[in-house]
Amino acid sequence: MQFTDRLLQELTSLRSVGSFRQLPIVPEGVVNLSGNDYLGLLEDEALREAFYAQLKPRASLLSAASSRLLTGNTPEAIELEETLAAAYGTEAALVLGSGYHANTGILPALIGPKSLILSDRLNHASLIDGIRATGVDFYRFRHNDLAHARNYLERYAKDYDEVFVVTESVFSMDGDCTDLKALVQLKRDFPNVVLYLDEAHGVGVFGDKGLGLATAQGVHQEIDILVGTFGKALCSTGAFVVCSQAIRDTLVNKMRPFIFTTALPPINLAWTKFVVNALPTMQARRAHLQTMAAQLAEAIRAKTGACVSTSQIVPYVIGSNEDAIQEAKRFQTAGFYVLPIRPPTVPKGTARLRFSLSAALSSDAFNRLLDVL
Ligand code: PMP
Repeated sequence: MQFTDRLLQELTSLRSVGSFRQLPIVPEGVVNLSGNDYLGLLEDEALREAFYAQLKPRASLLSAASSRLLTGNTPEAIELEETLAAAYGTEAALVLGSGYHANTGILPALIGPKSLILSDRLNHASLIDGIRATGVDFYRFRHNDLAHARNYLERYAKDYDEVFVVTESVFSMDGDCTDLKALVQLKRDFPNVVLYLDEAHGVGVFGDKGLGLATAQGVHQEIDILVGTFGKALCSTGAFVVCSQAIRDTLVNKMRPFIFTTALPPINLAWTKFVVNALPTMQARRAHLQTMAAQLAEAIRAKTGACVSTSQIVPYVIGSNEDAIQEAKRFQTAGFYVLPIRPPTVPKGTARLRFSLSAALSSDAFNRLLDVL
């Protein structure tokens, strides 16, 4: 079969199961409940103006024009890393191009000849890609079931030099949260455990300084590899890992998506540092967000009987792809931009709407949302 014909055939079969993806354009004037602007910073003009007012000319450059290992190691990158390491109280921090870079590159760089990986079954695609890229043995434990992870450790930990336990703090599709105290207990009980926590949806939202769920639960010092992203609550772009100096040095030497890519632009790094420094002042936004999230989860529970969310991401599981598409249209017609999330992003038969709340949402708009639901 000709190349293009094969592509067209594959696209037709995607269409036939309602899984054909297109790049949507967000209509003007709708309430956006599908982004990751959890703190409502995206359209905060005052914050942006305050940033520009203090911006040094040096930091206004729009490109680093090189990898960090060549000439792209700008003062803004170094300052942001110092800010993050100080905030988390870790030896080191490393800024990366994106969360996708982080999750696909960190594990392959750190893995040894006798490593095992245990991964939550619902970990994000970027983590799965990173795990696969290592080529080492791995098992997937049942979602958010650390007792199941413990079973694997009891059986296999002794056969390996180290066991990486990889999970997320706030899961991106269900909005449920990991019991991080139970997670660090695994490391206390099995000394060769290395903990890898993706806080993409926790940073900004949890903790009284907005540093994520691990700080909120007081266990961040025990997470070996804590990854956060800048593109969500922080309304910037890029990602970071806070870790030991040995881990950072290893990543700088071995992590291919760090070594072989252009560093982030200084202006963007400066903005990220500005937002990180402002996070402790955003407690009211976090409280508003959490109040709405709890109410919405409760309303969905009343309607459907289930909603596992304990965060700002609130799923409304519908089932079939077609029903999810219809229900999304209903919300869109009422002025709420909600998208259907379908397999393979979520397991088969669990197509859903995913409400991704933002502190920018007014109480009025939120009450209207509850009415539509
Ligand atoms: N981890 C998780 C849990 C995510 O949800 C995402 C983004 N959807 C990423 C990592 C990737 O982050 P980035 O968008 O910065 O590449």
